[in-house]
Amino acid sequence: MTYDNNNIFAKILTGAIPCIKVYEDDQTLAFMDIMPQAEGHTLVIPKEAAVTIHDLSDDAAANLIKKVKLVANAVKKGMNADGITLFQLNGEPAGQTVPHIHFHILPGSYLTAKAHASVSSDAGDLQAIADKIRAAL
Ligand code: AMP
Repeated sequence: MTYDNNNIFAKILTGAIPCIKVYEDDQTLAFMDIMPQAEGHTLVIPKEAAVTIHDLSDDAAANLIKKVKLVANAVKKGMNADGITLFQLNGEPAGQTVPHIHFHILPGSYLTAKAHASVSSDAGDLQAIADKIRAAL
């Protein structure tokens, strides 16, 4: 699939748009979801330009799942979550809205996650949550 260099996560990777960062290395960036479905909702993206998992190289996919595990461990510990849901959508028909592959890390159950509006998206609140997750890395 053709990669749009102007998609919002591409702009976050170049620094053109800010994010509330949780973790970064040479291949990976993790940051707070700006419209969280639960407190601690975190996104993990590869730096490789890929729209879906189908476009991602095997090496980048292998690294990405390792980093998803690393950050998910920190979300679990930092948020005192009993359970963690991982999800990852490929293509608009599957519900993907940002065309750069990303894993969602969601404390609790996807099935019982609150509607976006009932979880704070206040930047200060998200920063405080990111601090807890970073401290647990
Ligand atoms: P998906 O529906 O799987 O494509 O998920 C895209 C996610 O990106 C949604 O949960 C959005 O809330 C989130 N999102 C969109 N724009 C931003 C942004 N600028 N910073 C952080 N998260 C974002």
